[in-house]
Amino acid sequence: MRDIFKREIKYLRISLTELCNLRCRYCMPEEGVCKKSHEEMMTQEEIIAAVKVAAKLGVTKIRLTGGEPLVKKDIVQLVSRIKEVNGIEEICLTTNASLLPKYAADLKKAGLDRINISLDTLNPDKFKFITRVGELKDTLAGIDAALNTGFKKVKINSVLIGGFNDDEIVDLANLTLKQPTDVRFIELMPMYDSGDFGKDAFIPSTVVIEKIKEVYRGKFENDDDIIKEVTHKPGGVARIYRINGAMADVGLISAVSNHFCSECNRIRLTADGKLKPCLHSNQEILIKGLDEKAMEEKFREAILAKPEKHDVLSYESRSHAERNMNQIGG
Ligand code: SAM
Ligand code: SF4
Repeated sequence: MRDIFKREIKYLRISLTELCNLRCRYCMPEEGVCKKSHEEMMTQEEIIAAVKVAAKLGVTKIRLTGGEPLVKKDIVQLVSRIKEVNGIEEICLTTNASLLPKYAADLKKAGLDRINISLDTLNPDKFKFITRVGELKDTLAGIDAALNTGFKKVKINSVLIGGFNDDEIVDLANLTLKQPTDVRFIELMPMYDSGDFGKDAFIPSTVVIEKIKEVYRGKFENDDDIIKEVTHKPGGVARIYRINGAMADVGLISAVSNHFCSECNRIRLTADGKLKPCLHSNQEILIKGLDEKAMEEKFREAILAKPEKHDVLSYESRSHAERNMNQIGG
């Protein structure tokens, strides 16, 4: 189905839970979330009904996110049931990967197609700092598990944070030379009350290319040979580059410095059953408790309510989402 700005909505991101086994400073408060009752959250049946309705309206791609989707006990069953829904061509997962060694093989068998893994630093102390409680080795083991299980595309997502990991940009990008994982740098988004990072933390993703060129200068005949833009896929939100000789791509997601609303083909469903037409707006449409027919009406309403674009985001002008990222799914 198309929205009123003629964008075809083909992608549904489903947040399965607000809970997480980590506490990333830019994503959620240290104390975690006030646990909502089971009755407030979408059941597996309701999620499947929502996927069927979305597929009927033209959605072909589903991403499962959270919070941490792998803390959901029924995650494998959910993937296999979504896989059976007519019209769904691709199921993807966004995860911190710490539980992937346990689940990767079963998820693959259930039909999961792609995995995105969040990793902001390669330094164990910095990893502990940014996640408050996590261990780098667990996420690295999760990346290995995903690669060894044979997922066709494993992407690493790194949130760019000035003063925290801008000195590791090239190390993170160099992962694409060592293993077949794309690395995508995501600009830090100023969400509801997530981490009070200072103004200098908000850096544009273009610094990634500058830093890579700086480090590789002189190693190739021309500067232009160091890193090249590969494609800018329609409907894709990233600009894609490849370092000379790499096995995978470096992507830039400039959600803050250069938003991509005109290419937005997605809609979001929160774990407490609300459709969000736009990540950065506070508009929410409740579908929990509805049957498929009533859900379809609400999906249509949400798609037609997609704004043309969200307001400019910056340190001074925060997202209007009125939720932290763990309550939306990224
Ligand atoms: N727990 C999973 C994970 O970390 O991949 C999935 C949920 S997490 C909310 C989804 C994505 O949102 C992650 O890649 C995370 O880095 C990103 N994210 C969270 N807060 C963010 C913020 N303030 N700005 C930019 N990205 C953010
Ligand atoms: Fe958890 Fe992902 Fe948020 Fe980190 S970014 S706290 S892993 S939901």
